[in-house]
Amino acid sequence: MSTSRVVVAGGGLIGLCSAWYLARRGADVVVLERKEIGAGASRGNAGIVAAGHPPLNRPGKVRQALPHIFDARSPLYVRARRDMGVWRWLAAFARHCTRRHERHCLETLAPLGLDTLACFDAIVDEEGIDCDYRRGHYLEVCVGGKAMAKARDDAGLMREHGYHPEVVDGGQARELEPALGPRVAGGVLFPETRILDPWLFLLGLAKAARRRGVSIREGVAVRRLTVSGGTVRGVETADGGRVAADAVVVATGPFSLPLAEQVGSRLPVQPGKGYHREVAVGPGGAPSMRVACTNRETGIICTPLEGRVRFVGTMEFAGYDLELNPIRLEQLTLKPRAWLPTLGDAPPVSEWCGLRPMSPDGLPFVGPLGDVAGLSVAVGHGNLGLTLSAVTGEMVANQVAGTGDPRLAPFSPARFGR
Ligand SMILES: Cc1cc2nc3c(=O)[nH]c(=O)nc-3n(C[C@H](O)[C@H](O)[C@H](O)COP(=O)(O)OP(=O)(O)OC[C@H]3O[C@@H](n4cnc5c(N)ncnc54)[C@H](O)[C@@H]3O)c2cc1C
Repeated sequence: MSTSRVVVAGGGLIGLCSAWYLARRGADVVVLERKEIGAGASRGNAGIVAAGHPPLNRPGKVRQALPHIFDARSPLYVRARRDMGVWRWLAAFARHCTRRHERHCLETLAPLGLDTLACFDAIVDEEGIDCDYRRGHYLEVCVGGKAMAKARDDAGLMREHGYHPEVVDGGQARELEPALGPRVAGGVLFPETRILDPWLFLLGLAKAARRRGVSIREGVAVRRLTVSGGTVRGVETADGGRVAADAVVVATGPFSLPLAEQVGSRLPVQPGKGYHREVAVGPGGAPSMRVACTNRETGIICTPLEGRVRFVGTMEFAGYDLELNPIRLEQLTLKPRAWLPTLGDAPPVSEWCGLRPMSPDGLPFVGPLGDVAGLSVAVGHGNLGLTLSAVTGEMVANQVAGTGDPRLAPFSPARFGR
């Protein structure tokens, strides 16, 4: 690959991991990012590399969420009520909430999860990235018995696929994380996990990629793909410039649709907004926590980071709108009081939202795009984009280099038709 020029459109986790692996294989890589690196969903996520977990498509998911989807306080909220694209997407999502599809996802993502852990360890060790990297576990906590029964069933499913989740009772959960309150009935500890600060990881990765010769141009948006004779020749940028390339990787998250449409590809990706609110550790603020925890009932995650706890969650379908909805932000620190009783009222130190690139079947689109030689896509990683970013980068590099990667088969960008 040493003479190949590859343009990667998008400087999020997927674009940067792809660029890093491509550079490692000897490609001459240019990343074009329309804002700044991490400007999409990648910068403020929960920081949990949750290997082997299935996506959100679970049996019963839609039935459980449907009665509350117009309530701004519920975990799943549809605000773009008149957007037919959202309803079509939700219908396709519902069709993939079956046992059969759940099994397919687990069979696909379980081996990939172990690969991604190895990829993260390799990147962080090889490049010495300082991103609060923890090789450890995270804890799913349950308040009610019904949630506990489901968590136990899910742990069983993951064990069938080679993982080692450990069911714990309330006392054991509090021993692991003393900030948990008496209402916690129990939970599941997932040992095949990495925790990191995603923003520090991105900064470190960008620095490492630059050291390997990658040119990262921020503030440069890709407007069009340049294609002739069935082969991609590069891209045209919004400022009228052209960047020639032998290969182009589209990694623009939920903003990829216009580029895919240009080559006749229909990628059913919807932006799914999520929020974070951070509270500093200290009197009247967040408790000092040892373990990242997620609550089964609400889906809210609490990740301890340097001097603060990041409360993360919620899924909102509101188109590409990036407004911070105070009602949804409030839920992030209101609901955890049921299991974190010492969480105080101190004002947050940071609030953020990002758009997850959601595919209807919970699996990303990674591989050749359209029938255009040299053109690839890597989008649609949904709520598992950090988890799958490192291994996606490796698979993209293999595909662009022409060596192929059998792991890509379930992620065909053409699986919903062209
Ligand atoms: C609240 C929240 C919590 C999450 N927690 C976790 C977690 O704990 N674990 C996990 O695995 N995943 C998590 N995720 C999911 C994960 O963050 C995303 O799946 C991931 O960031 C997607 O990365 P991406 O690179 O595909 O997209 P993005 O991060 O959106 O990057 C795309 C980039 O492309 C740029 N761009 C767009 N259009 C153009 C253009 N025309 N030209 C050039 N550049 C362009 C954008 O500015 C953006 O920077 C979470 C997401 C959210 C919102």
